[in-house]
Amino acid sequence: MPAQLIDGTALSKKIRSEVAVRAAALTARGVTPGLAVILVGEDPASAVYVRNKVKACQEHGLHSVFEKYDASLPEADLLARLHALNVDPAIHGILVQMPLPRHIDPHKVIETISTDKDVDGYSVRSAGDLMAGLPGFRPCTPYGCMKLIESTGVPLKGRHAVVIGRSNTVGKPMALLLLQANATVTVCHSATADIGAHTRQADVVVVAVGRRNTLTADMVKPGAIVVDVGMNRDDAGKLCGDVDFAAVRDVAGWITPVPGGVGPMTITMLLVNTLESAERAAGRA
Ligand code: NAP
Repeated sequence: MPAQLIDGTALSKKIRSEVAVRAAALTARGVTPGLAVILVGEDPASAVYVRNKVKACQEHGLHSVFEKYDASLPEADLLARLHALNVDPAIHGILVQMPLPRHIDPHKVIETISTDKDVDGYSVRSAGDLMAGLPGFRPCTPYGCMKLIESTGVPLKGRHAVVIGRSNTVGKPMALLLLQANATVTVCHSATADIGAHTRQADVVVVAVGRRNTLTADMVKPGAIVVDVGMNRDDAGKLCGDVDFAAVRDVAGWITPVPGGVGPMTITMLLVNTLESAERAAGRA
């Protein structure tokens, strides 16, 4: 029997409608959740991501500010703008779209964003909060993956989870979130000798590499949950993930498609983080 699809579009829709209800309730109390999105330069993929984030805010009752700057923007000017947004009471989340032009240090930029508004969860402080199991913003993509796994109803406690990929924005926080959910976690990367030896024992596999067919059917334990974070193009130019979807779905118990899996959840969790930031700010006021 083929694996059950974990439908990220449907789950996204459900969570976004809950966000809209909570955003309306907060607005009625005089606080509209606000997200500032900054794009520097002309990267076409970044422009699409940014447009989708702003559109999602508008459609769910969040206030959004979109600022686009020329690729020549001096780093100091960007940092000054971030300092201003940090103290703007109408803004509860700040997102600077990566990658940035080479003359701008992304670490400096991320660390300039106030911890209270770091809705991407990329700062060292947010990473530390996650590591220590303290409340804080979780990076949107792994946070969305956790929601997708939870939606299967399969408890993670005591299960073996394998994460392929160890980036600071996806793989590492993913591993920490799984650990926090009481899974036993293995992290594989480009220097792992035999990835299949690990994944064949895994009840859950999350693949975040950026290379087609990283996970093939012979690497999957029957019935496993497979979450595909990857975004690639196949030979026909069609969007595809890191998983050999057609073959793996005959072995896995649950699988996310690409598109329609992790992608929509990333923006959804950005809305959730921004809303929760605004709720906290309203609570403090
Ligand atoms: P990244 O920063 O390039 O990290 C890729 C990771 O994969 C690295 O840890 C690397 O290992 C590992 N890797 C590379 N080749 C490998 C191999 N042959 N076997 C095992 N591991 C290998 O990428 P990322 O930002 O984490 O993103 C990963 C993918 O997810 C990309 O396709 C990206 O577009 C996609 N993505 C999707 C969303 C979404 O919303 N759907 C969001 C974020 C990212 P080393 O550390 O050893 O180099």
